[in-house]
Amino acid sequence: MNPLSAFSHEVRRMLRERLTVLFMAVTVAITVWFCLNSSGTTAVDAYILIPSKYSAFLGALLFTLLTLVQFHRDYRNNTDNIILSYTNPIFYHLRRTLSLIGMAAITTLLSSVFTLPYALIKTGAYFQADTFFASWYLIFFGALTLSILLTSGFYMLFKRVEAAFIIMIGLIILSGLLDYHRYDLNPSYLLFWVQTNAEDFSDLVSNQFQIDTIQWNRLFCFPVALGVWIFGLSSIRRYGHGFLSSFIENSRQIWPPVSLVLTITLAGICWSAEPIFDNSIPMDLYVGKTEEVQDSGTGLFTFSFGDDEDENTELLLTDKKADVTIDTDNRTLTGEAVYSIENLTGEKQTLSLALNPGYTIKKAKVNGQEVKAIRDGVEQNNEATWYIDIPADKLTTVEVTYGGHIENNRSLSQTPWSGICREYVRIPRTCFSPSTNISAVEDLAFTWSLRLDEQLVPEFSGSLVEKLDTINGKVRWSGTENDRRNISLTAADYHTKTFEAGGLTIDFIYFAKHENEMANMDAIKVMKAAIDYFTEVYGPLVYRDHLAMLELPATFSGGYAAGNTSAMDETHFAAAGFLPGETDNPDNGSGIDTIIHEIAHQWWGLATFLKTDDHSYWSAEGVTCYSTYRFLEHYYGQAYAKERFIDVWQRNWQTYENAFYVQHPDYLAKLSKSDASNVMRNLQSIGLYNIMPLQILQAETALGGSEALMKKLSELYQNNLFGFITYEDFLSTTGLTEEVLNIAQKDNL
Ligand SMILES: [Zn+2]
Repeated sequence: MNPLSAFSHEVRRMLRERLTVLFMAVTVAITVWFCLNSSGTTAVDAYILIPSKYSAFLGALLFTLLTLVQFHRDYRNNTDNIILSYTNPIFYHLRRTLSLIGMAAITTLLSSVFTLPYALIKTGAYFQADTFFASWYLIFFGALTLSILLTSGFYMLFKRVEAAFIIMIGLIILSGLLDYHRYDLNPSYLLFWVQTNAEDFSDLVSNQFQIDTIQWNRLFCFPVALGVWIFGLSSIRRYGHGFLSSFIENSRQIWPPVSLVLTITLAGICWSAEPIFDNSIPMDLYVGKTEEVQDSGTGLFTFSFGDDEDENTELLLTDKKADVTIDTDNRTLTGEAVYSIENLTGEKQTLSLALNPGYTIKKAKVNGQEVKAIRDGVEQNNEATWYIDIPADKLTTVEVTYGGHIENNRSLSQTPWSGICREYVRIPRTCFSPSTNISAVEDLAFTWSLRLDEQLVPEFSGSLVEKLDTINGKVRWSGTENDRRNISLTAADYHTKTFEAGGLTIDFIYFAKHENEMANMDAIKVMKAAIDYFTEVYGPLVYRDHLAMLELPATFSGGYAAGNTSAMDETHFAAAGFLPGETDNPDNGSGIDTIIHEIAHQWWGLATFLKTDDHSYWSAEGVTCYSTYRFLEHYYGQAYAKERFIDVWQRNWQTYENAFYVQHPDYLAKLSKSDASNVMRNLQSIGLYNIMPLQILQAETALGGSEALMKKLSELYQNNLFGFITYEDFLSTTGLTEEVLNIAQKDNL
């Protein structure tokens, strides 16, 4: 029998077996069940990615069992020696493994008969073919294939079903545990072999950065699993031989050791050449030297740039220019930067330039003469430092040609936020042009230009820019920065609506695919009214003349405020009732209430920091929820606001009061640490989002009405801009006591 007909014979044999068909049918049923019963924050997440990840877990388990059944049967029936006496054992196991992978492929195709139309119907205009393919073919089918290779490899290695089964269960659980500990341990995304670390897929822009991580995960896991399989195959027991002597006997043929070395080498190359993340040293070692990230406790982060302690005052930057081109086909950025430097010492100096670790300096010139730029091996804070020698001359011009593929900061979390692809570009501050730590003249003008594909609309952290020309489908943008030495940008198929509110010009920049929802919600009218209202009652926002409100992909899961930009991820703008699994937490919700909530955070949480403590539920959330309620009452009327806010707060407060652990706090001590902290987190969330707003309503009553209280809040806001506000500050400003407002005692817990 030739190899091909032997293989098709084996496939037909498996398909005739009831047990195999049963395993395949159960796996298909699981994919259908997860499609119908998953939730998520975007449509693509809820109807494609999350079902595929859960199905991958159960599918990996089922195909582990099926592989063991297939491999163990001959051994159990003592027919293996008979079979292997007339067939080549290597081809025999290869055929069997390939047939099992064939079963996995048929299972995946059969499940696509449901998953594809379901995804098309449920995600509608948000459907993306590459996202579907990555979820069901790379993640799900990938997990089945990897479990077949690993299981058969371990079975051939140990010749014991129990051993192979226990190892596989351990590996499947390990993959889940890595997910569970992804934020505290920050494990490499290459190790999530079953489900990968992809999450928060966007409905509105390309998920290419996340698909890159899925592809590299599979590129690494496949040679590892193949290596295990080849190792198992090369240790097939020869008649009368043990493990070691069989392995040596088998290795007389050249292919087992050679292919084993090849797969290990390939896995090693994929591990070390992984291009998505850098080798940045974990951040907390460098606290104080880096940007300070302030968690406002709101799901929103504010960035403040601390004083640069390492500033080199012996050199003075008098002028900087950069011309940058983004190549979306090759997914790279290239640029030329020119620095005019004054040497204040009259001695030779070294200029250090910091760049994204994925970039190289291709050419460097000092006063027109080509020189060498030397890269430091250390990568930190998503930057690698390059050194260029500067002569003793008073005035020096340094020109550098640089560029490359952006690498993300490994030390933060293995989520690829930055990069370049055709539909979406995200260039952080470290990736536009080399930054330098030398001191700068006060009126430094950094003039830059950028060439970018015509169909991409860029947003430059609120900086004002000019559109110069369009050549060969690329638009040239230009701008001048006065007070900073670098810029960051986000570009996608954005629509921009400009409106005036609160004395500011506001550019609302949202994904083109969200156009209908923005119109249905009348989002701009509501946003304008909210900004006007909060400005009127609390005081103006502290942006210079204009503010950009930018919509980000779901991957950002939250938002941030930096420079003149206030950014929020796409889930904040989805019309309500769109997705399963909505929560009571307004920071995880969607629709108008959420947009207003996030706008109110501009005053409470971003312009002022409301400091939490251990004796009250005071935080930015309480005042933000209260402010949202007040605006929507003003905008839609009392009935709407009462039903959406006061009733919900009171219901959740009842839940809190009735909670077993609130009634019996002693029992909390008997829980395990993680269970106790889960209970506490849930109660804490009710405290922040429901109890504190009720306490603020109590304060209203005590002061004799909402107007009196809003006046006090306005005082609090204006007197504490960019400062902390404690619960005590709130009490002393309003002249109220903790007792008056106390509807729930946090100390009880
Ligand atoms: Zn919030």
